Order: sequence, then structure tokens, then C-alpha cells
Amino acid sequence: MHEHIMPTYASLAIRFTKGAGSWLWDEKGDKYLDALSGIAVCGLGHAHPEVAAAISEQAQTLVHTSNLYYIEKQELLANKLCDLTEMNDVFFANSGAEANEAAIKIARRFAAKKGLSQPIIITMNGSFHGRTLATLTATGNELIKEGFAPLPTGFCHLPDNDIPALEAFIDQHDNIAAILVEPIQGESGVNIPASNYLNKLRQLCDQHDFLLMLDEIQTGMGRTGTFLASQQNGIKADVVTLAKALGNGVPIGACLTQGKATGLLTSGSHGSTFGGNPLACAAALCVLEVLQRDQLADRAKQLGEKIVRSFKLALQHCEHVVDIRHKGLMIAIELKKPCTELVSQAAEKKLLINVAGGNRVRLLPPLTMTDQEANQVVDIVSNLIIAH
Ligand SMILES: *Cc1c(COP(=O)(O)O)cnc(C)c1O
Repeated sequence: MHEHIMPTYASLAIRFTKGAGSWLWDEKGDKYLDALSGIAVCGLGHAHPEVAAAISEQAQTLVHTSNLYYIEKQELLANKLCDLTEMNDVFFANSGAEANEAAIKIARRFAAKKGLSQPIIITMNGSFHGRTLATLTATGNELIKEGFAPLPTGFCHLPDNDIPALEAFIDQHDNIAAILVEPIQGESGVNIPASNYLNKLRQLCDQHDFLLMLDEIQTGMGRTGTFLASQQNGIKADVVTLAKALGNGVPIGACLTQGKATGLLTSGSHGSTFGGNPLACAAALCVLEVLQRDQLADRAKQLGEKIVRSFKLALQHCEHVVDIRHKGLMIAIELKKPCTELVSQAAEKKLLINVAGGNRVRLLPPLTMTDQEANQVVDIVSNLIIAH
């Protein structure tokens, strides 16, 4: 049955047929605990009843009109997002990569306005920004670029979390338009930079008149303990991108701007047929309401701390473990040796986890996970790591 699907993913041969909260059921009726949330997407858990009702109600009212007309739910969603982030304007897309494409186009316009020729956007080694041609070029991982030449120009990669390297590069180049960075690198294995890293980036961008563009597609939506991860640094980027958990599974991305990044995308300069349609916006509006009402960012902070305390205790004598780190519910256990087989071993134990960067067990549980479910995750994962 899978033979007509392009093999772009090394998928496990499990077909899930329904979900509820932190749980998924396969076609045989087996029940799995989900510590990955569809890669940080279902932050409110599966089939959240209020989100389901919002989607259903919107589907029975109006699904799509195009952006040739005002869309009320889109206006409400933009207001709410700007409220939560103190940003000014929003462009709605359908995915993370598309939100980053908008950010890249904004950086190019910013450069054009300043009269920079051949402008460059600085991104970091180990970053992930998406799979379109521009965003995979922005991505700091050579593997995902293989065989896709010619790639767009105008990107360069520097070591992450290395301010001296950045300063040295800035000294030698007069065509830098923007810095695009993840507050915490997700796909390469939850790489958490120095606590003042984003503040330093903000300072450098102010000093040199670059755009600071934060890819909060994975770190945003409360996952790290605040609505945006960058809010823990008390800084505001010029451009912020969101996607993943924004629609709790309904595809939607957003590119937010403020300050000197505002007003650069003008009528006719960008667009999306589906972007910000009533269905996606109704889902996202409901997600934001529940996130705020149930204080799920605080919950992410608390539960993340509890889970990591438990892991540190359970794995204190395990010599395979190099590091256990987290911000909120973005959690990694880094091992000395490759451990990709832990994914299928966990699935046999009816637990869904991920391994990133070859040797980091990555957990991205729903923000709604209960303490008891979290204990189960810690037990199963610790035992697998000890036996590894
Ligand atoms: C997932 C992700 C993307 C890409 O999002 P898609 O919706 O898959 O296009 C971009 N940046 C980061 C940080 C991500 O985690």
C-alpha cells in the first residue's frame, strides 16, 4: 500500500487511526504514548475537543475565500499573535518553510532598500529552516542539499553560539542584510546556546543595521516555557516565524514583523492562495485561546523541569549519557554513541520518540501531557538507554 508514496521519509510501518490527548491508536487497536507530538505540532495533544469543534464549526460555515477579500478570522488571529509577541504585522503561509521564505524575501527587500548589492543572510551551522530551495540553502546541513544544485545564492553559514566568529565575519563583509537563527536548534538535537546569545545577536543587529530574524517554528507556541523562546531574553526580533504548533495539526505558518522589517512586503510582492484561510485561522485562534487560558507555557516549563529531574535521577549511573538538557518541553538526552534504533525499540514498547543528530534522544511531548504520562515516558526511555 505504501509503494506509491515517494520514499522521502524512513517511516515506521505503523498506521495511526485515531488520537486523544497524549495517545494514538494504530489500526490493530494498539495504544501508543506520544512524546513527539507529530514533531512539536500537536502541542495541545491529539484531537483536542475545543480545536476539533472550532475546525468543525468553521468547516460548516466557510472554509476558503482567498486573500482577495478580508478574512475576519485572519484579522482576529493576527491581532492575537501581535498581542502575544508585541510584533506589528503578520503574513500567513501554510508551513514553516513558507514562513521562512517570507522572512527571506523581507531580508532581500530590506537589503534592496538599503542599496546592498549581493546581500547575504547569515545562518548557523546545524540549523534547520525548511526544505524549499531557499530554506534548504539557509539550512546549515550539507546533507539535505545533496544533488539539488544550483542553489540560490546569498546565504552563508557560521558556527552557532559563537559571537567572536560572527563579529569577525561582520568585520570583513559590508553586504550583510540579516541574521536568521533558531533560538534553540531543534532538528540537529536541541542545541541550547549561551543564555545571552540572542541578546548579543540583537545588539549586533542594532549596531550594524541588520534584521534579526528568529525561526521560532519549533521553539514557539509556549513549548520552551514562554510564548516565544526569545521572550526569555527580553528581546524582540525584527522578524519571527511560527508554524508547527500554531494550528495543532492544521497546516498554517506565520511570518511576523516589527520595526524596520515592517512594510517591506507591499501589495503584489508576496502571496499565498491558501495562506491564512478561515479554516486554518479558526484552528489557530482556538489553539491560542486554550494555550493562554490553560497557561500551557507555564505548564511546559514545570513539566520540562520535572521530566529532566527524573531523567537525571534515573540515568545518574548510566555511562552512555553525555548530557541531558532542555528548555521547557524541548528535551534531549545526548548519548556517547549513535542510537537511532531507540526509535523503533521505543515503538515496540508503544512509545513514540525521536532521535536527532544521530545520538540525541529528542522528546517534544504535548504541553498537555499529565505527570503520570510523563513518568511513563521517563521510565521507558531510561530503561532503553540503560540497555543500549
Ligand atoms: C519544522 C521546522 C521548519 C520547517 O517547517 P515545515 O512546516 O516542515 O516547512 C523550519 N524551521 C524549524 C526550526 C523547524 O523546526
